Amino acid sequence: MAPAESHRASLSFPSGNGKTGPIAVSSTSRLTCPSSCPLAGDQGCYAEAGFRTRLQWDRLSRGESGLPAAAFIQQVAALPAGVMFRHCVAGDQWPDPAAPLRIDQALLLQLAQATRHLRAAWSYTHFPMGPENQAALRLAAAKGLVINASTESRSIAAGLQRQGIPAVCVVPPDAPAVFRHQGVRFVACPATRPGSGVQCSSCGGRFGIPLCAQAARSFVVTFPAHGARAAAAARHCS
Ligand code: SF4
Repeated sequence: MAPAESHRASLSFPSGNGKTGPIAVSSTSRLTCPSSCPLAGDQGCYAEAGFRTRLQWDRLSRGESGLPAAAFIQQVAALPAGVMFRHCVAGDQWPDPAAPLRIDQALLLQLAQATRHLRAAWSYTHFPMGPENQAALRLAAAKGLVINASTESRSIAAGLQRQGIPAVCVVPPDAPAVFRHQGVRFVACPATRPGSGVQCSSCGGRFGIPLCAQAARSFVVTFPAHGARAAAAARHCS
């Protein structure tokens, strides 16, 4: 069967993205974005708001750049040992062609296997966190690829974190840097703190692992709504 168009992905190393620092980053086609994402389109999607990111994402989503999944996974496997890899700066996990709201577990695990030589590998998803998608995340994490469940609800994020699913949560711009909700600690991405020079490449301390790549962490990472679509994103926060 021909690879699904949604499975196209592009890799960049070292990244010129000021937020991530010079790590390896990737994007997947806009066709990967599940209908369950409340931020899609003009509803607060970070990738749609950034001019350069959106232009590159448009090209990828039209099939003018990037590679089909199998070739992309080979590229990831060929990254130098020890680098860090943030998957899906734009886009989401590859959907199962037979069930659009289910992560393609087989492909995700092939990708996770291809990251085993890397120092840290992580990503995010707005796929619904039913049992099948949670299982896919747990299996990928066991191979070293940590997929964070992206949320806008502190209660949902806290619930996932208690179940051992690493979660991130968009919060209003004036949310405290550290707070507790339903007994779970929430910690702001250090790169979002005013005056911080932290990038993903330096997150987690000098010898540390970036917060989003820590599978066994006990806290939710928060991202204050920001940028051109901050107001739209903040409307989804609860
Ligand atoms: S918490 Fe760390 S790894 Fe996650 S986005 Fe922020 S800087 Fe990057």
